[in-house]
Amino acid sequence: MLGRQAACLSRPTSCQPVGFAALCLGQAGSLPAETAWQAIFLMKSPLEAPEKQVAEETSAKPEKPTPTSVIDTSKMAKGQREALELAEAARDPLEDRGSFASNLFVGRYDFDRIYPYPAQSAEDRAAGEDFLRKLESYLRQHVDPDEIDRTGEIPPENFKGLAEIGAFGIKVPKKYGGLGLSQCNYGQAAVLLGSWDGNVAALVSAHQSIGVAQPLLLFGTEEQKQKYLPRVAGGEISAFALTETHAGSDPATMSLRAEPSPDGSEFVLNGEKLWCTNGVKAGVLVVMARTPSKMVGGKERKQITAFIVDVDTPGLEIAYRCRFMGLRALYNAVVKFTDVRVPKENIIFKEGAGLKVALTTLNTGRLTLPAACVGLSKRLLEISRKWAGERIQWGVPIGKHAAIAGKVADMAGNVFAMEAMTFLTSSLLDRKVGDLRIETAMCKMWATEMTWRIADDAMQVRGGRGYETAHSLAGRGEPAIGVERFLRDCRVNTIFEGSSEIMRLFIAREALDPHLKVGGAIFNTQLPMSDRAKAILSSGKFYAGWYPRQWLPNGAGRIDNLHETLAGHVNYAARTSKRLARGLFHAMARFGPKLDREQLLLSRFVGIATELFAISATCSYAQWLLGQGKPADEILVLADYFCRSARMRIDHHFAGTARNADKHGYNLVQDLLAGKHELLRDGIV
Ligand SMILES: Cc1cc2nc3c(=O)[nH]c(=O)nc-3n(C[C@H](O)[C@H](O)[C@H](O)COP(=O)(O)OP(=O)(O)OC[C@H]3O[C@@H](n4cnc5c(N)ncnc54)[C@H](O)[C@@H]3O)c2cc1C
Repeated sequence: MLGRQAACLSRPTSCQPVGFAALCLGQAGSLPAETAWQAIFLMKSPLEAPEKQVAEETSAKPEKPTPTSVIDTSKMAKGQREALELAEAARDPLEDRGSFASNLFVGRYDFDRIYPYPAQSAEDRAAGEDFLRKLESYLRQHVDPDEIDRTGEIPPENFKGLAEIGAFGIKVPKKYGGLGLSQCNYGQAAVLLGSWDGNVAALVSAHQSIGVAQPLLLFGTEEQKQKYLPRVAGGEISAFALTETHAGSDPATMSLRAEPSPDGSEFVLNGEKLWCTNGVKAGVLVVMARTPSKMVGGKERKQITAFIVDVDTPGLEIAYRCRFMGLRALYNAVVKFTDVRVPKENIIFKEGAGLKVALTTLNTGRLTLPAACVGLSKRLLEISRKWAGERIQWGVPIGKHAAIAGKVADMAGNVFAMEAMTFLTSSLLDRKVGDLRIETAMCKMWATEMTWRIADDAMQVRGGRGYETAHSLAGRGEPAIGVERFLRDCRVNTIFEGSSEIMRLFIAREALDPHLKVGGAIFNTQLPMSDRAKAILSSGKFYAGWYPRQWLPNGAGRIDNLHETLAGHVNYAARTSKRLARGLFHAMARFGPKLDREQLLLSRFVGIATELFAISATCSYAQWLLGQGKPADEILVLADYFCRSARMRIDHHFAGTARNADKHGYNLVQDLLAGKHELLRDGIV
């Protein structure tokens, strides 16, 4: 193996940085995050960052890389290069940061960062109690999810009622008219909303997470905060407009223009935005627009700028209301801009920093969706539990048939893990302990995918009744349980706010960052030879120390007060993180500059790390619950079942890294795209 390492370091095809051209944004839907901005500046925290690790393990301090020194874009196609340069320029470097999850990829297992479980404090819980109680009773008494789904409208009195209890300004500080609650309490509100009605959940979260409140809390000036936060916290709806017809996952193709007026006092916006959630009801929008390009290093760099735009500005038109498979009462719009004049004071942060605003907002904001997924998954588990116990077929309750029991067991384990991961990360955010972009992305990706599976399984458990609408069930005298509504509503969660594919690229990019920093410069033909030679020396030192350590069989070390069942899984996770780090390193050695094309391979590594994070969070959470006096026979069975299932998924991922049909599949699809395999199109209407 060391021979392979040496080969990697000496052969110019190895360890080449990957080109994650479609990185990052994934965009909207809903998201919060009061703390990301502070978090960026509080990174010199107890967390040991990969950057720090690099510094420790090479005698020379690694140079602060600029984006172009990390990734060679010289051989990329124009569109790919522009997308990557834009995303890299908007990305905050990982230096002096790191987290439990990011270090899994470099074989460092720091369980003490998440153990003991960082539970929400009693004080913080008390601060949110009153609001959460009001929200729960408001939803039960005044929000009829099946009627909202059937009519495609949220009644006006619900907007008013939610505003009255403060649901539109949950995290907005009290001095700006909000409730000033924490991420954990915001997450608990999302759990309630997710368990009841996806439409209202989307309305509330898009409004305050990506709508005006969140970007302003992170980047706004005091004047902007004073002007807009009281309005949106009081219930004036806001929205976030980034997506366009030709700019979905790839914001570099954005075409909505904002040209400065001759005196520079305002910008004139022209173009169109697509799928703007809340757009139909909004009074104010955050709009991403292209402002004039800048020359950087002799090359044109596209600029994207974030503007606050009042909807009643002349020239702004809500041109169309989009309708979807689920979330039928989403107030989602096509928004047209014709010579819309916006004062330059309405720029958020600064000109050209629009993508940074969006990315930073999303890095923490992605936690709302997993929290809503916890609520929905608990609801689906409860529906399945009841039905599996009461529906008798073939002489016994269907829950006694192993095929159905297996589905419900998976639901139970996954719900437990989802809650553990989401609220562990929320609590760390509240404590401002470091950069949690990988954790939040993992929570988003894992929870939205698991919830879709849970909804699918719940439909199967309910059989024909799962497929029947709540209205129809009630019409023939059965309880109005709308599993099909939940299934339709949750499908979009893996698409917006960063699709699952983009989340995997995002996590993979961050995972490879330590390696890119150490070795990326060696093969970057855009850099002077002297820089590349320096990088050879420092990376040689780094890997000579790092790589052999990835073969040491040690587990997580001594962990106080961890039940032995849980300790077994934690030790497994520690050992497996080293195996993951080796696997990733070998993939870099094997594929070199072509690793960026191996999306399926990278996604397996991301999958392994995500399951390791889930196992670790679950064990930490389970031990905390035991400490709270919860019944050990229940908690340990749940945690143990989840960890065993996650380990099987990890085995499957590892097997796929060694043996797969990826290349054959890829070639097959290129042929398909080129028009071959006509018989696959034969015989259809
Ligand atoms: C109900 C709904 C609400 C929305 N709300 C908002 C909103 O409020 N504001 C807003 O700005 N936007 C919103 N969006 C847009 C949403 O964020 C986008 O749909 C999302 O970013 C994906 O873009 P796209 O649909 O154009 O897919 P595309 O970018 O065209 O992607 C199509 C598929 O290809 C995959 N893909 C793309 N690039 C890559 C790559 N490099 N590697 C691998 N796979 C790739 C994607 O993951 C996806 O599966 C909303 C969308 C919906 C459906």
